[in-house]
Amino acid sequence: MSSECLFCKIAEGSIPAEIVAETESALAFRDINPQAPTHVLIIPRGHVESLNEVDDPEMMGELVRLSRMIASREGLENGWRWVTNVGGDGGQSVFHLHFHLLGGRRMNWPPG
Ligand code: 5GP
Ligand code: ZN
Repeated sequence: MSSECLFCKIAEGSIPAEIVAETESALAFRDINPQAPTHVLIIPRGHVESLNEVDDPEMMGELVRLSRMIASREGLENGWRWVTNVGGDGGQSVFHLHFHLLGGRRMNWPPG
């Protein structure tokens, strides 16, 4: 837990969020500023800054499984998008690893 980290605080429950799924090591909650009808953030409970710091394939597998379960539960059988922004140029604004699960509308490409 990093005491200044917003998503660590959501993971420990000291800042509220609309939780949609959780496991022992991962958590999923709705984005506060949704960019699509479904916009869920999937995070590891433990603090990892970004994809640059990931060295745990089991953790990544858990995030993938949880994301697919949520996509299915949200009825996104026509498709969905999974995005992670890395660093300033990647557009990252919260420095606790998170994957955006977006769906419920046709996504644009390139994302800009
Ligand atoms: P990033 O820009 O780092 O890829 O994504 C950060 C995301 O976190 C943004 O989509 C933003 O809307 C979301 N966000 C920022 N603060 C909060 C918050 O307090 N609660 C929730 N649920 N989402 C947040
Ligand atoms: Zn954190």
